[in-house]
Amino acid sequence: MVNDQMVNSMTTIILKPHKEESLLRFHPWVFSGAIARVVLDAKHKGDVPEEGELVCVQSSTSNVLGVGHWQVGSIAVRILSFGSDSLPADFWRTRIRAAYKVRESLGLVRKDNNTFRLVHGEGDNLPGLIVDIYADTAVVQAHSVGMHVCRTEIADAILAEVPQVQNIYYKSDDTLPFKAPIEGEKIGWLIHDQMVNDSEFWSVENGLSFRIDWLRGQKTGFFIDQRENRALVERYAHGKDVLNMFCYTGGFSLYALRGGAKTVDSVDVSQKAIDIVEANVKRNFPDCTNHRAIAADAFDYLNDQINAKMVNGQMVNGYDLIILDPPAFAKHRDAVKNALRGYQRINAKAIEMIRPGGILFTFSCSQAVDKEAFRLAVFSAAAQVGRSVRILHQLHQPQDHPINIYHPEGEYLKGLVLYVE
Ligand code: SAH
Repeated sequence: MVNDQMVNSMTTIILKPHKEESLLRFHPWVFSGAIARVVLDAKHKGDVPEEGELVCVQSSTSNVLGVGHWQVGSIAVRILSFGSDSLPADFWRTRIRAAYKVRESLGLVRKDNNTFRLVHGEGDNLPGLIVDIYADTAVVQAHSVGMHVCRTEIADAILAEVPQVQNIYYKSDDTLPFKAPIEGEKIGWLIHDQMVNDSEFWSVENGLSFRIDWLRGQKTGFFIDQRENRALVERYAHGKDVLNMFCYTGGFSLYALRGGAKTVDSVDVSQKAIDIVEANVKRNFPDCTNHRAIAADAFDYLNDQINAKMVNGQMVNGYDLIILDPPAFAKHRDAVKNALRGYQRINAKAIEMIRPGGILFTFSCSQAVDKEAFRLAVFSAAAQVGRSVRILHQLHQPQDHPINIYHPEGEYLKGLVLYVE
């Protein structure tokens, strides 16, 4: 395996003939099947690279293709830098600065908006890394051991490059490969100002305050990826009875209330999420009397509504605007079929119960379900119910969750806004 003639300070991965083509097109993953051999660096203890180790990738003709993090699994290397055989000393600061500049130039860094995604993995040329900013606190999530190993350098770079950040919390207990031998804590403060109150922490999105609970909450504490779609709900909400299904901490609900909704019902199966929705509504609309937060299962709730609202075969009451933003029904490719059935079922319920002239915002955040498949599931739901449905908008992830054009796998969030006659 080891080639003595190679004097390299870094482990080198040599690809099979012609397997360099995707890397020459800047796709950042090297699959294990593309590797011909591994030349370990001189200092190496074991006989295979260590998970998380920085490695250099070369073509079969010894062309340097780039450097990246080694992983155990079908994606063997995630490239950090193309065309070079090492990372410059200021690598992390340069990449974090570039990511921050994009958010700044997009107008996401404002007094009335201090909530945004700073780093979106491959979309920011940092595969395996997620960083979300909530006011003065960054929440960092590693999806690869390589990023875990570099967490301190990453934290230092964020602190140096993002003026608003004073605290950095690391939350990778659910995202790191669970079989990997991992040294160091997967969760906890990397940089902590004693003043931060993590049991009552507030962040602002488009002028609305949200309680963020990164310790106990889902993902990094909040779903920043729906910001633009929530703003669209605000435009449609005036005078409407709104149902925000799978509401989590009530993002869509607050925008609907600000948009002048007549009533808003927020439903989620998690009581913890519902408690935060109540706190969020109280903070933003202290005198609000037209909001209800309900802890319930989505299917039970929709079925109960349908049964309770049918009088002489006609739907009475109900909702004018429904938002369906379920968790990813398919986490893997092999779960896609079931996921599509799930999307069809839940959308059929919503299309059945919405009032004539109603607006349905429906989403899928399953990366494995592409937009055509999702649209087909919603089409099947509409056909099953037999109502006339028009597509008003096709929605996607926002600009701080960019898709690297060379890495189309980065596209995951899709939505449709439907007019139901
Ligand atoms: N729309 C939210 C994010 C939704 S995340 C926002 O803008 O922030 C998906 C939510 O679905 C989670 O809060 C989860 O608790 C909830 N959920 C999962 N299964 C559910 C079910 N069967 N019924 C109701 N809610 C469910």
